[in-house]
Parts: sequence; structure tokens; C-alpha cells
Amino acid sequence: MSTSDKNKKRMGTRAVHAGWEPDAATGSVMPPVYLTSTYVQDGPGRPRNGFEYSRTQNPTRFALEDALAELEGGCAGFAFASGMAAIHTLTLTLKAGDRVIAGDDLYGGSHRLFSQIASRFGLNFEFRDLTTSNAFEALPEDTRLVYLETPSNPLLRIAPIEEAAKAAHKAGAELAVDNTFASPIIQRPLELGADYVVHSTTKYIAGHSDVIGGAIICANREQAEDVAFHQNSAGTSSSAFDSFLTLRGLRTLPLRIERHCSNAATIADFLNNHPAVSAVLYPGLPEHPGHEIARAQMQGGWGGMLCFELPEGGPQSEALVSALEIFQLAESLGGVESLIELPAPMTHASVPAKERQARGISDGLVRVSVGIEDCDDLIADLSQALDRIT
Ligand SMILES: *Cc1c(COP(=O)(O)O)cnc(C)c1O
Repeated sequence: MSTSDKNKKRMGTRAVHAGWEPDAATGSVMPPVYLTSTYVQDGPGRPRNGFEYSRTQNPTRFALEDALAELEGGCAGFAFASGMAAIHTLTLTLKAGDRVIAGDDLYGGSHRLFSQIASRFGLNFEFRDLTTSNAFEALPEDTRLVYLETPSNPLLRIAPIEEAAKAAHKAGAELAVDNTFASPIIQRPLELGADYVVHSTTKYIAGHSDVIGGAIICANREQAEDVAFHQNSAGTSSSAFDSFLTLRGLRTLPLRIERHCSNAATIADFLNNHPAVSAVLYPGLPEHPGHEIARAQMQGGWGGMLCFELPEGGPQSEALVSALEIFQLAESLGGVESLIELPAPMTHASVPAKERQARGISDGLVRVSVGIEDCDDLIADLSQALDRIT
């Protein structure tokens, strides 16, 4: 099957087959885990089929990278040791003096990488609310990259991808979108004009809370060569074993996302109508400020993430998370099991308290990664916990 035939298949089919054809030698339907650091050469400087050293080339990693490129509709994909390794590698493609306009609601680790590390190497970061339509007016001349998350972590803010891409290109810059929260089943930023998609594949793509990984998918060849150069030079690539696990998880991504979305929508409604809950953030709720933009760009559903608040704030939220039985108190998201956490003392503790408050991350904000369990059991668990604390 040629690539162009394959691209005509629907996502549910592509996820199952992308990146690997049964191999000629054995017909194995999944790629072997190539646990080798190096490859024998036929003569000095004559590697077989281009394979020299595993940091640079590994067939198991290549299978995952091709699958990622196919699902996001990019020309090439790259797999990294973590989401942060991917984002770090993207910053390495910039140079001192370049300006990055970044969303002001980002994963805590991305904020820390930008403000405490990459900024020491001469990159200028400006954090803006990228959800408003005038956010993209007058991008400074030295802007090289616009970087956003949509839906954002943790507040599930929605930024308009197509508008961001147009504004970035007009200013001579590129657009990178962290698509971790949506996954390519829901939203494909490259089709909306973005130049790069980044992922923490730790989350929905691998999906089973058993591996740390990241990805960059590029829209064009020139960028892809640049990312490949930096992935190899900085040594940030994914191991063969982690690549295998991630590809194994990716095979069921469409099925899992369907269930994450339907469970999350039901739970968002339940919480929204519960008298003990003071606010619910979920892009699928009509009152969510980004609802209409989300409807246009999140075509596969509203996602499996939501946040909510309780009237008495921090202490009440702490009581709630310890009263739950199925929802596990843990950082991370996107796995089959439901997880719950408080961003302020947990995932976003690296964002200074003053900044957290300014951005709307209250101490009592509760973030939920809705898993794929039976939804009735999840509702029953939330219901008993809310009864116990009110
Ligand atoms: C978790 C996360 C990251 C970082 O990924 P790691 O795999 O933990 O390094 C980046 N962006 C978002 C949106 C995330 O949720």
C-alpha cells in the first residue's frame, strides 16, 4: 500500500497500521525491539541501509516516528526520551536573540524550561494570553516562534490555531502547538497551518501510564532536517524499548479517545449540575469561553481533561481528593485510569505562586484526567466523595 493510499484511510484504521509493514524476513506484525547500540558496516564508512549508531538511527524508533507523522499529517515525526526532551530540542533549533511568544497557560515544566533555562541562552520569551483575538496583533519583528497549548494545561483554555499560524507567518515566524491534551484523533494543528506539533507521548498517545516519551512532528522537510540534526546532536531521542511501548499504545488511541471523551462529557455535566461544585472548566460546555473555537478545531471531541473548583477552596479540594476511591491522586494524565490532582501544589508547583494566581490557577483548582473506566462507577465515586465533604 503506498503512503498516499494509506492517507485516505480513516484515523481508526491508520492508528492500527501506521509506521510498520510486516517485515520481509518473518512477517512480524509489530516491529522487533532493536536493542542494539551499533550496526556492523560492510566497509569503512559503508553502513548497511544507512544504520550506523542507535542514537541516530533505530528501526523501532523509526516505526513510531513514521506512525506519529502519519497520524498528525506531517512530513516527518521524531520521538524523544520525554515531552520535555522534545520541547527542549525544539528550543535548540532557535538562536540567541530570537523571540518566542508563548501562551501564558502552559504545562509547568514547559514554563520552567523557557523561563529558567532557554532564557539563559539568549532566547527572549514573552508570555501572552493567546486566547483573545487581539493577542496576535503586532508580533515583534524578532519573533521566530509562537508556542501554544490548546487546550492548555491546566486551565483548558482554547487558542485559535489557524489565526495563530497566519499571524506567525505574517511576522516571519513559525507556529508550534503542544497537542498533548487533544491528541491527533481530536485535533490536527498541521492541517490548520502550524509548522510543528509537539507531544508528551507519555499521556494519551502511549496511554497506559507506563512510559515517558515525547514527539515533534514537522510540516515540512527543511524543518524536519533541522530537528533531526538537533535530536541526534543533543542525544534526546527515545530508546527502542520506549518507542515500542509507545507504538503499542498508539494502536488503540482512537478507541481510547472516544471513551475518554464520552466519559469526560458526562462527568462535566454531572459536576456542572452538582450544588457542591462552584465552577467547571470543560471545552465541551457551551459556557466555556473557548467553546466555539474548540468546536471548529477539535473535530474529534472535547477531550478527556476537565477542571473544577469547590466553594471553600484548597482544604475542601484536598478533602475531596482523599475521599475518592477510583480516581487516583497523581500527576500526569491521558492513561486508561482516572487521575485527579491539584495543580498548585503538584504539576504547577514550579510556576511561582504569584504568577499562578495571576493566571487563574487557584490553590483549590482540581484537575481531572478522566479514564476509560465504566462511567457509572466514576460518577458514583465522585458523588459519594462530594457528599462526604459537604
Ligand atoms: C506532561 C506534559 C509535558 C511534558 O512531558 P513529559 O513527557 O512529562 O516530559 C508537556 N506538555 C504537556 C501539555 C504535558 O501535559
